[in-house]
Amino acid sequence: MSTLLVRNAAMLVTMDDARREIAGGGFFARDGLIVAVGDTATLPATADDVLDASGQIVLPGLVNCHHHLDQALTRNLPAGQNAELFDWLTAHYKVWVKRTPPASRTATLVGLAELALSGCTTVFDHAYLFQNGCRVDDQIAAAAEIGVRFMASRGSMSRGQSQGGLPPDNCVEDEDAILADCQRVIGRYHDASHGAMLQIVLAPCAPFSVTDRLLRDTAAMARSAGVRLHTHLCETTDEEVYTLAQFGMRPVDYMAELGWVDNDVWFAHAVKVNDAEIGLFARTGTGVCHCPTSNMRLASGIAPLQKYLQAGVRVGLGVDGSASNDGGHLLAEARQAMLLARLNLAVDPDAPRVWTAARDVLEVATRGGAAVLGREDIGALQTGRCADFFTLDLDAIGYAGGLSDPVAAVVFCAPRTVKHCWVHGRPVVTDGRIVTIDMATVVAEHNRHAATLLI
Ligand SMILES: [Zn+2]
Repeated sequence: MSTLLVRNAAMLVTMDDARREIAGGGFFARDGLIVAVGDTATLPATADDVLDASGQIVLPGLVNCHHHLDQALTRNLPAGQNAELFDWLTAHYKVWVKRTPPASRTATLVGLAELALSGCTTVFDHAYLFQNGCRVDDQIAAAAEIGVRFMASRGSMSRGQSQGGLPPDNCVEDEDAILADCQRVIGRYHDASHGAMLQIVLAPCAPFSVTDRLLRDTAAMARSAGVRLHTHLCETTDEEVYTLAQFGMRPVDYMAELGWVDNDVWFAHAVKVNDAEIGLFARTGTGVCHCPTSNMRLASGIAPLQKYLQAGVRVGLGVDGSASNDGGHLLAEARQAMLLARLNLAVDPDAPRVWTAARDVLEVATRGGAAVLGREDIGALQTGRCADFFTLDLDAIGYAGGLSDPVAAVVFCAPRTVKHCWVHGRPVVTDGRIVTIDMATVVAEHNRHAATLLI
């Protein structure tokens, strides 16, 4: 049994049910779970590990609800720098298909390290391309090495160009093989327990890269196994044109017909939705992962964040893959979400006339993400939840003059690297550096793999 005491925070942001912000606060945790939160004077005087957070703001670990860690191998690819989604995907498929298991390992470590350095403690990854012997197992092993809480997907693509899909045929897999591997991965890895460090999600890629049969069978398997479902949806107008042409339905209607609109499902992007679809998500508990940087980068559009929040839709944040964001800073993503919602006030006359505030996007990035992932054990610093948190030095140059409201400063001011980031009561970042693995070696190896993919 090990204990942790975090004390003397200049400000502790709990995101608990009362949204308490406690000057001079801290918390006490046992075996990775929080058992007391409050003013430092009310907490035990010592513990096995003691972190003095003087001069720092302490926040709940951020939750990333959509990523493609392997894309860290193809950031900033020249052929994809100035392209919308379908052209961007077409430029990348031929490079991604050459990825190897060792390359996947370094990409996972780079992506998770980058996120941890931005305050992210739980990561969902949407992996859907498995060639050259690549398996979800490679990423799961890497996540355990670095110590970040991980939700891995056994994703899939089965509808190649010869079947009317977007990906080349050499990128897709046989559907029976996909389903068999989904079953294997769930049986081997999925942990449904409170505080689980690893869970499995089933995640076919998109309506334009899988068949309706695979979507139906995947949903049935997920429900019998008690795991969640995820896919990309309503990302672009091109996708809407595709499902109207192929199936005679808008994307949400198509997915609803296949049993994919429910409280165990969340969609990445959900940019191109109408008010009826927003209402349907709210009524059914279907979640949304908002990825503002990727949506801007690919000129996809502006997701109606404030409409979702007002309707009561569960919304989390995602940096999306490293090749359509080119970064993985989740606190920066929260800032983008706030700024883009404000831009939307100027360009969408139908947008609710509401200012999206710094605390709104911090909530989306913490409690919101936890709700989207179906997790009641993360997303807030409160009794019974996991000791997942990060701290920021408030005496940094970038916050100077902005400390009249330190909570809002972490969103309004330029995004920073964290001072400390702990997951389940264990340090992953200390004094701004990853401490669980040697990142210099990983980065050098990763750059070699990335260069090899382009040959
Ligand atoms: Zn994506």
